[in-house]
Amino acid sequence: VIRLDQVTKRFGDNTVLDRLNFTVDAGKHVTLIGPSGSGKTTILRLLMTLVQPDEGTITVDGEQLYPAPEKQVREVRKKIGMVFQQFNLFPNMKVLRNVTEAPVTVLGMSKDEAEARARELLELVGLADKCDAYPTHLSGGQQQRVAIARALAMRPQVLLLDEVTSALDPELVAGVLDVLRDIAHSTDITMLCVTHEMSFARDISDQVLMFDSGRVIESGSPEKLFGDPDHERTREFLSTIL
Ligand code: ATP
Repeated sequence: VIRLDQVTKRFGDNTVLDRLNFTVDAGKHVTLIGPSGSGKTTILRLLMTLVQPDEGTITVDGEQLYPAPEKQVREVRKKIGMVFQQFNLFPNMKVLRNVTEAPVTVLGMSKDEAEARARELLELVGLADKCDAYPTHLSGGQQQRVAIARALAMRPQVLLLDEVTSALDPELVAGVLDVLRDIAHSTDITMLCVTHEMSFARDISDQVLMFDSGRVIESGSPEKLFGDPDHERTREFLSTIL
């Protein structure tokens, strides 16, 4: 579903991604790991078209996302949902409206249909009783679960997760990861996630990619990568976080 070919991204003279190639097949769950600054978040931002590559091509579901005409970019973008470290909910809207807003305004879904779907999704993330609450009245973990429901409401083929638990108090992390595990195991959505939660990565990933200095230095099953990595650099990195 996702394909990056020879993608290079520089910020000034800092080459953050260096002729990067990788693919994520439909329905697979791929986790990106690697030291801070190795370019993981930049990949997700490229897919969200928040930044543009300097070279290379990016394809999503067989259609080019970069380079491509603006209209095509908008269409391809709709196939992708993202959950950020900071939840970025609309503070002036109740929970239900946070989830229905984009399906109604971007997809043109009727309000009734969007609300029915939002209620289903809020139930899935364990927040059926919070439809009428404002985000500021929820815990960080609850807000992040609303953000997950909001991303899924757009029926994306691909869900991007960027360190979604790193802004949470430790006791709230498990609830959010449980919801994501559930989604990973019960839907056919393709997931690309950046996380430092290794046991979560082990549970959900089909493949783990280890990044260093803008390149994939090693990839494999979670068993292989976490259990018996080939690269000294991977070993070192894992020893700092496990
Ligand atoms: P972390 O785990 O800390 O989030 P990361 O692997 O996700 O790290 P990125 O956030 O992709 O790394 O950043 C890679 C490099 O790109 C860093 O050196 C960062 O300073 C630089 N960078 C990212 N965004 C910008 C920007 N908008 N302008 C300039 N430099 C940037």
